[in-house]
Amino acid sequence: MEEYLPDIYQKSIYTIDYAKLFNRGIKCLLFDLDNTIVSPYSSELSQKTKDLFISLKQKGFKIIIFTNSPSIRLKGFKKFFGVDGVSSACKPFTGKLRKLLTDYGYAITEVAIIGDQLMTDIKVGNKVGITTILVNPVSKSDFVLTKIHRFKERRMMRKLRDHDLFWQGRYYD
Ligand SMILES: [Mg+2]
Repeated sequence: MEEYLPDIYQKSIYTIDYAKLFNRGIKCLLFDLDNTIVSPYSSELSQKTKDLFISLKQKGFKIIIFTNSPSIRLKGFKKFFGVDGVSSACKPFTGKLRKLLTDYGYAITEVAIIGDQLMTDIKVGNKVGITTILVNPVSKSDFVLTKIHRFKERRMMRKLRDHDLFWQGRYYD
């Protein structure tokens, strides 16, 4: 059950205390794409998100979009935001995440994953041992596979709540 518990829980990517992360030794931020930085069926390129990424890069962070979506979906966002990206990440399987750590040469203590799903983003991060940050989904729509994950996620959130580990809307960092 603890593998589904995020280290940090925030309302959105804009409310995360990035300075605090930096002081904890985090150098690389992995952002989930769908429902973390953009609505699942949207290709909207948000200037607000771009500005956030620019300021994070100026603070010294490496930014990588780490998404289960295919490269054809990732491509436009990667280019517009001017960041690196890994597509078809197969979260919650750990292969691509471990490869990313090796390829970029980061220790697990230097990387945080930010995403909207317990069953994929948080689980993969906890399995590998990097810092995990849950944010609320940016929209109510989900891809079909995600709907199945959400069903399991609701059950897991109830379980975590019953153990007094996690309460929806009670943010912490
Ligand atoms: Mg997502």
